[in-house]
Amino acid sequence: MATTTDKDKQTKQSFAHYWKQNLRAWRMWYRQSPGFFAATLLSSTCGALAPYLTIWLSAQIISELAGGRDPRRLASWAALTVGVTALLALAGGALNRWREYERSRLMAVRFKPLADKMMTLDYAEVDRQEVQDLYSQILQNDNWGGYGMYQTLQLFPDFCKGAVQVAGGVGFTLSLFLTDLPADSPLAFLNSPLALFVVLAFMVLVVVLSSLCDNKATLMLTKKTEAFTFGNRIFSFYGFQMVRDRKRAGDLRIYRQLKNVGMPLMSVPSSLPFVPGSSIAKLSKGRVGLLFGLCQSLTAVMTCAVYLFVCLKSWGGAFDVGLVTRYVGSATQLFGGISLLLLTLSQVRVNGTFLDTTFRFLDLPNHMYQGSLTTEKRSDRNYQVEFKDVSFRYPGTDRWALRHVNVKFRIGSRLAVVGPNGSGKTTFIKLLCRLYDPTEGEILLNGIDIRKYRYEDYMDIFSVVFQDFRLLALPLGENVAGAAEYDRDLAERCLRGAGFGERLDTMPKGLDTVLYKELDQDGVAVSGGEAQKIAIARALYKDAPFIVLDEPTAALDPIAEADIYAKFDAIAGDKTAIYISHRLSSCKFCDAIAVFDQGAIVQTGTHDTLVADENGLYHKLWQAQAQYYTNT
Ligand code: ADP
Repeated sequence: MATTTDKDKQTKQSFAHYWKQNLRAWRMWYRQSPGFFAATLLSSTCGALAPYLTIWLSAQIISELAGGRDPRRLASWAALTVGVTALLALAGGALNRWREYERSRLMAVRFKPLADKMMTLDYAEVDRQEVQDLYSQILQNDNWGGYGMYQTLQLFPDFCKGAVQVAGGVGFTLSLFLTDLPADSPLAFLNSPLALFVVLAFMVLVVVLSSLCDNKATLMLTKKTEAFTFGNRIFSFYGFQMVRDRKRAGDLRIYRQLKNVGMPLMSVPSSLPFVPGSSIAKLSKGRVGLLFGLCQSLTAVMTCAVYLFVCLKSWGGAFDVGLVTRYVGSATQLFGGISLLLLTLSQVRVNGTFLDTTFRFLDLPNHMYQGSLTTEKRSDRNYQVEFKDVSFRYPGTDRWALRHVNVKFRIGSRLAVVGPNGSGKTTFIKLLCRLYDPTEGEILLNGIDIRKYRYEDYMDIFSVVFQDFRLLALPLGENVAGAAEYDRDLAERCLRGAGFGERLDTMPKGLDTVLYKELDQDGVAVSGGEAQKIAIARALYKDAPFIVLDEPTAALDPIAEADIYAKFDAIAGDKTAIYISHRLSSCKFCDAIAVFDQGAIVQTGTHDTLVADENGLYHKLWQAQAQYYTNT
């Protein structure tokens, strides 16, 4: 979450800075849809100029009525007015439709830049709480006020409309100020440059003051961003997320959580900013409400001033009554345009602080070195990986998660990594797969530091079934292949190989059966054990030379786990397989076992040699766990 200090720093930036941020956002949208910008420019121009044309045409009719009263000329003006108004309405409608079409296309990819960034960030960055907070802050800003990238999409049409409205207004209103009253008129003093200056200055001042009031009120509300987003979180969590979460349903009932905790929290003003009596409600009733009211009053004052000036000039003989409508209309449009432009610019400033947050995320640098060597595709799977004196500390921590780890994988062998919880087993795999780089030492692939390889190439040689693997609410086959187009025979073979064959035969649409019900009512729920088999099939489908199982069976009992590991061994074929478990019995069959303790490899050997060493940790762990599988 953006801290108060961050926010203070942001508000101190210049308008030029915010304008640049805004331009950057527009450029990003433009790359996605130039059509939106073309459509907006045209529709805003049409929308802003249409009232002037209508005003001008109506003025011609009134002048004719007040002057010549020629029925044929009147009919022509009336026909022209109707025709032009209809044409403008049609053109405006078509252009708006085009703009909205482009806008909806943009809306569909609204979060794509954020998602792309998240996907390309170093894993270590994604793992950082600050990065997660920044991301959720951006989503919350968007959620409560459309602030950030979305707001810039609103600002562009307003900016175009304001600019064209001002330009058109100047053109249509200029003669109001330049047409003199007759010299003998009692109001002839209005011809003097000083009088003109005073009138104009008054009108501009009123418009500026009105915009300032609006801007100030909006700024006061945005200072409450954190309260709004916090309120939104409470509201959405207790209001609907909590009650529909299946995993919470039991606790909710047993401990009456919603009644005892949720509802009281939601109704206490200090915790929810939207209820009467909250600080935001007080602000809205007080200063913010007053400022918005003042803004509206000043707009009314402005309209009065325009009427007064135009009527006085007409009464004094500067122009006939037909022009009164035109000048009142166009002057109101002109000052409306100035007001819109000022408001848009002030919104650019307000929204700029939110864009700062967005760009802070999008500009996060990747620190991992990206090499350029390709890992040659070897049919003999002859990939030799070696850890050379590797030590690792998680970013921002002082404790060594791994210390002086040396290990070499024999090609095609089965290595078990065992040890108590927290001993560094998963960290070891994360380093092997280059999700993190070692703090000290190096990892070699065929004798070359893995940092020197292209990242994607290096990733290609690993299939990992993580402890907390996730499947997608998509067809079964697509889950296995990780793609919409895939080799169906291979997917089926992998599923059967992973022990999912019988279940597959009962699935209504075979590989096309959708998993889970989130996206499809006919979706099929799978149990934890079945999901884990699908995850193993996915790893097999990738057919990478290294295959890693990181305790994906933690939810199963020790006997079932040992069974799965033994079966997996048979289907892993000539791949180099690494098994991680804190249950020693699962890995008895492995060629080599590395015992981890407090981040270091304390023992290596086969099950028989390790269990025979009575002073070793393996023996101790074996004895402690033996009670679970004495019957195996
Ligand atoms: P194991 O897989 O053997 O249970 P881990 O490799 O997950 O152990 O953890 C090793 C040590 O690193 C533990 O002390 C754990 O608290 C710490 N650790 C794990 N993940 C992180 C992380 N993202 N940030 C900081 N410390 C971590």
